[in-house]
Parts: sequence; C-alpha cells; structure tokens
Amino acid sequence: MKHLIDIKSLTNDEILEITELARYYEEHVPKGTQKKKKAGSTALLFFENSTRTRFSFEMASKKLGFSAFNFDAQKSSILKGEGFFDTLNNLNAIGCDIAIIRHSKEGFIEELSKKEYDWGLSLVNAGEGQSSHPTQALLDFYTLQKHLKTVEGKKITIVGDIIHSRVAKSNIELLTRFGAHVVCCSPSYFEDWTLTNAKYEPVLKDALNDADAVMGLRIQKERIETRVPYAQYIEDYQIKESNLPKKAILMHPGPVNRNVEIEGALLDSKRGKIITEQARNGVFVRMAVLDLIYEGTKR
Ligand code: ASP
Repeated sequence: MKHLIDIKSLTNDEILEITELARYYEEHVPKGTQKKKKAGSTALLFFENSTRTRFSFEMASKKLGFSAFNFDAQKSSILKGEGFFDTLNNLNAIGCDIAIIRHSKEGFIEELSKKEYDWGLSLVNAGEGQSSHPTQALLDFYTLQKHLKTVEGKKITIVGDIIHSRVAKSNIELLTRFGAHVVCCSPSYFEDWTLTNAKYEPVLKDALNDADAVMGLRIQKERIETRVPYAQYIEDYQIKESNLPKKAILMHPGPVNRNVEIEGALLDSKRGKIITEQARNGVFVRMAVLDLIYEGTKR
C-alpha cells in the first residue's frame, strides 16, 4: 500500500489486513509491547475542521514512534502562492514520509497521488469533501466486527444527512462489499439517489426495525445553503432510547449535535458508549494504516 486514497482503492484482503493489524495494536499498545518503534514522520495537513481525526492520526503516529508535524495553513507558503504539490514535495524532501490530508475538494488526494514526489511521499485521505473518509469507514468496520462478529447479512441503518456525508459514502462502499444490508434513512432533502447499493427507507420506524447497528449522522451545516427545518427533522428522525431496537448497537462518527440527531439521554446511557469506543478504535486502525504504508513502501 503506497497511499490510502479511498475505500475503492483497497482490496477486501487489504481491508482485512488493516483490521487484523489494528487488533494487534489494540491488544499490545496498552501493555507497551508493540513492535519496534518506527523512525518515520507524518505531516498533518488539515484544511477543514477536525478534532477526532486529527488527534487520532497524531496519536497513532506517536504511538508508532513517528514524529508528527502539524501544518498550519494560515502560516504556510501556500498563502505566498506556492502550489500544493510543491509544498508536499518540499515537506517530503525535508523528511516527511506520509502526508495526512483533509480537504474539501473532491478527488484531490487521487489527483495528488498521480504526481511524482522526489523522495517517495505517501498520501493518506483524512476526509475529502462530501465523498470519502476511508479511515472512518475502516474504524467503523472494525467496531462493527468487534460487536457483531461479522457484518455479513447484518442490517446496518444510517440515519441523517446522507447526501453531504463522506462517512456514509465510504461506509456504504465498504460494508456492502462485506455483505451487509445497508439502509439509508433521511428526509428527501438529505437523500442521495446515486447510492444504488444501499436501500433507501424514508420512514425512521421502518428503517430501524430489526437493525443490528444504527449510525447517526450530523447535519453538515457548513455544506448546506438552504434552511433546514430542524424542529421537524428532530420530530421525524431523532434516534432515541424509545425507537432504537433493543439488539442494535448505536454508532456515530462524531461530532454529535446532542438532542438533534441523537437524544441526549441516549448518548449518556450505556448504549451511547460505543460512540467513544469508535474514537478509541480509530487510533488502532490508523496505526495499522500508517504502519502498512510505511513498511510497504521502499524509501
Ligand atoms: N467527522 C466526520 C467527518 O469529518 C463527520 C462529521 O463531520 O459530521 O466527515
């Protein structure tokens, strides 16, 4: 694995290799018995807001023994007019092995991956526009495997702002490849007709019925220009203790808007705990991704 561009660019075997290595890290990191520390370094270039993903990649880098450098776009030479490729090529020359990038432009990481870097830079997608967030889907898959053993034949319902969600897109791609039945539930203004491998069910009660896992999604205010009828949305689509099936696990990529997509009391209950477990699992999954890229690339 040279880059992590999106879920489409990974084979099923590579996905399983990532989750197996993540399991190794989950078992060994807290005991301090992980593999030999690595000498590489990562650069974190985030052009959209982030708390979890950014910290998680930084934590994963440091736990592997990498040096992690945060790139401040406001203080960078990009503001002096330097092109993004030239910046990356120079960061690579200075010693960064892996650039972890979050950007609003669709297809940006793939476009950058086609360039020749003088010192063999690798790129990792840390969330791109509305289209892909591969490490979130990988950590969600890892979390689902832990709780459901397998996703094959399982009903996984995604509720909320599907059309603007890169998390939904990457999850649908990954989970359906492993045999899950993904159901998307949203009002029509959040529906995405292009997602043909997921079933669309607009009525929350029917979408939740018999679900094995339910993923809530945040309304992506920053990507929406028109007014969202919040009160009606909450009335029709909020996930609550009273409508969440007993057997279903509750997930959310975060950040959660409390009392909008999920009832606050449900978040605070025992059933809300898997959401923070997802954040924890993300570190092990990102360690696995960085490790496989670093080890698999001749420098
Ligand atoms: N953290 C996720 C993302 O970056 C979900 C969200 O922002 O709502 O896409």
